[in-house]
Amino acid sequence: MQIIDGKKVSAQVKEEVKKQTLELKEQYGITPGLAVVIVGDDPASRVYVNNKKKACEFVGFKSEEFSLPAETTQEELLNLVKTLNEKKDINGILVQLPLPEHLDDKAVIEAIDPLKDVDAFHAVNVGKIMLGEYDFMPCTPAGVMEMLHSYNIPVNSKNCVVIGRSNIVGKPMSMLLLHENGTVTICHSRTQNLAEICSKADILVAAVGKPKFVTADMVKEGAVVIDVGMDRDENGKLCGDVDFENVKDKCSYITPVPGGVGPMTVATLMKNTLKAAKIQNNV
Ligand code: NAP
Repeated sequence: MQIIDGKKVSAQVKEEVKKQTLELKEQYGITPGLAVVIVGDDPASRVYVNNKKKACEFVGFKSEEFSLPAETTQEELLNLVKTLNEKKDINGILVQLPLPEHLDDKAVIEAIDPLKDVDAFHAVNVGKIMLGEYDFMPCTPAGVMEMLHSYNIPVNSKNCVVIGRSNIVGKPMSMLLLHENGTVTICHSRTQNLAEICSKADILVAAVGKPKFVTADMVKEGAVVIDVGMDRDENGKLCGDVDFENVKDKCSYITPVPGGVGPMTVATLMKNTLKAAKIQNNV
C-alpha cells in the first residue's frame, strides 16, 4: 500500500504556479489577483480562507480579502461581486461557501463573471466541464486528478465509483473521471447495494461527509481509495469518509486525511487564478 501524499503533490503544483507567476510578472508586468469573500464567522470557512491567502502569498499573487458581517444583505453581496467583476487587478473571485442561510448562494455564484469564476461553480463553467472544454477545472476534483496523474495511476478503462453527487465534488469528479475514460458509477443516499457497488471499484472516491463511512468490506483488494471527506470523529478529531486504519491494508493507494485531497484543492485554485489572469490579459 502506498499513501498518496497530497502535501507533496500540492507543493509541486504551487512551485510551478510560483514559477509561472514570476515569468508573467517579468515578461508582462502582470500580477494575478484573487479576491476572497467571506460572510459571517464560520470557523471552518475561516481556516479555508486563511489557507487560500497563505497560498496566494507563496505563489506571488495579490490577494484581497473581503470579510463581511453575517447580516450582510443579498444586495450588498451582489454589489460587491459586481465591483470585483469590474476590477482589472482582480482575476479570480471566490465566495466562500456555505453562505449564511438568508443569502442565495446560487444567485451569488451566477453573478460572478465566468472568466473570474476560479472555483468553476458558475453554470457556464459547469456546462464547459460537461463538454470537456473547460478553462477552469473544479478545484477539489481537479486536485484528485492531479494526484492520480502524479502517482501514474491510470483511469482509462478502470471501474470508478464516486460516492456523493454534490455539485461541488461528486458530479464534477465523475465527469473528470469519465473524460479520462473511466467507467463511472455515481452513488448517493438512495443507492441500493452501495457496499457491493463500491467493492467492485478499481478507483473509489468518497465524497459523502460522514466520518469513516467507507469500511474495509466496501473496498476491493488493490483498489485506489481517494478520501475527499473532511469530517470530525467521535472525539472531534479531523478524519475522512474512509475508515483509514482498517481500509489501508487492502488498497494499492490511499489518500490520508489530513494531508490528502485538502491541500490539492488550494493548489488547483492557484492554478485556476493564474490561468484566469492569462486569459483576461490575452497571454
Ligand atoms: P454534500 O453536498 O453534503 O454531498 C454529500 C453526498 O453524499 C450527497 O450526494 C449525498 O447523497 C451522499 N450521501 C450522504 N449520505 C449517504 C449515504 N448514506 N450513502 C450514500 N451516499 C450518501 O457534501 P460535499 O460538499 O460533496 O462534501 C463531501 C465531503 O467532502 C464533506 O466531508 C466535505 O467536507 C468534503 N469536502 C472536502 C473538500 C476538500 O478540499 N478536501 C472540498 C469540498 C468538500 P444525496 O445527494 O442523495 O443526498
